[in-house]
Amino acid sequence: MLEVSAALKLIKQHTPGPEIISAPIDSSLVGYVLAEDVTAPEPVPAYRASIVDGYALIAPTDETSSAGVFSVAGISHAAPGRNPPLQAGTIARITTGAPLPDGATAVVMVEETTIAEYSEDGTEEREVEILASNVKPGENIREIGSDIAADSVILKKGDRISASGGELGLLASVGRASVKVYRRPTVAVLSTGDEIVNHSQPGSLVSGQVRDCNRPVLLSLLSSWGIPTLDLGISSDTPGALEEMLRAALRKADVVITSGGVSMGELDLLKPTIERSLGGTIHFGRVNMKPGKPTTFATVPIKMETGEVRQKVIFALPGNPASAIVTANLFVLPSVHHVMGIEPAGLYEVSVTLAHDVRCDPQRPEYHRAVVGVDNAGRLLAASTGKQRSSMVGSLKSANALLVLPAGNNVRKGEVVQALIMGPIGSAQQ
Ligand code: AMP
Ligand code: MG
Repeated sequence: MLEVSAALKLIKQHTPGPEIISAPIDSSLVGYVLAEDVTAPEPVPAYRASIVDGYALIAPTDETSSAGVFSVAGISHAAPGRNPPLQAGTIARITTGAPLPDGATAVVMVEETTIAEYSEDGTEEREVEILASNVKPGENIREIGSDIAADSVILKKGDRISASGGELGLLASVGRASVKVYRRPTVAVLSTGDEIVNHSQPGSLVSGQVRDCNRPVLLSLLSSWGIPTLDLGISSDTPGALEEMLRAALRKADVVITSGGVSMGELDLLKPTIERSLGGTIHFGRVNMKPGKPTTFATVPIKMETGEVRQKVIFALPGNPASAIVTANLFVLPSVHHVMGIEPAGLYEVSVTLAHDVRCDPQRPEYHRAVVGVDNAGRLLAASTGKQRSSMVGSLKSANALLVLPAGNNVRKGEVVQALIMGPIGSAQQ
């Protein structure tokens, strides 16, 4: 049976490569990866600007004191326009971000000044005393291009646009209207099985019916990864129906995820449908892991309306909900990351300390659902979510990690194991 690492290699090898598109600079850019180095077409700031509210002055260039009483020649607000040049012996009131009048070489904070004389109507200062004696040229000034120099590389190919704002902020600050990024794949989700009914079907179930848990969960998982999705509903276990639905889905989507129909039962139709009816290639159909052994990965050549033939990807995941969710995290995520240009692909791996003993499967490496949190000493502590049966979707409740447990001996409290992180990490329960 194929090891998980070998399965991941096959996924990387057979997932179609990234395509470059142009995307506008707005909130929809979050999550994309840049397909170009970006240089700043203009400097930031574009003019010499004050860092503080205060008074612009001509600072002494020798050891003489900057303190003294000066007449206030004007006001510079943070607004477009030019101010008259500053004459020797005068100062100008200036607000944060406002352009320096020509000739000014420094700004003194308002806190380091006091008003010496008011105008006749008492509303404005006519003369101001600078109390600070050591104001030097350049003080409290943002020089042109001191935040971002013109023509400098502000972002590199491969950088990902985060929601925290740094990358989007750089692009917006220098006036870029669009940028080249890697396209996101569209992923369609199909549930299979004669027993599966819509999760929201009213009333109680007839014996043998099962509510569709996988489709809403997989669709929400994909959305959380920033991926556009298509909901394909439920297919019966009839070869014709399945083939029709898959064929239609593969025309519209880049990746199709099915769940169910990959065990060894006679109604487990996915593999024959992909190979015989759709002319696809199954790259793997069994993986040495728990849960998720029957996970199947295939590519299918599809003739598009343009006449072009494109390779589309199918992940046929096991039907049991915990298996479907674990394998989507483990296998589908790296595949969509390859298309989106995200490196390294897949979940982050970290070392965690076990909060208690955990039993391991004697035969297969296990992806054990767990809650990882930071303890008082700053260590990542992992606690199991409890029973791990593959039908129990509750084993994923509150889980933010999959512990990678090797087959064989049990692992003990305090031991360090690898964990794949699926969600945000909070404080550990101690
Ligand atoms: P299968 O791989 O089709 O043999 O399905 C394995 C188990 O998963 C069976 O007990 C199915 O009823 C169950 N199952 C399959 N699809 C779903 C689904 N979408 N939601 C919940 N359970 C499912
Ligand atoms: Mg089935």
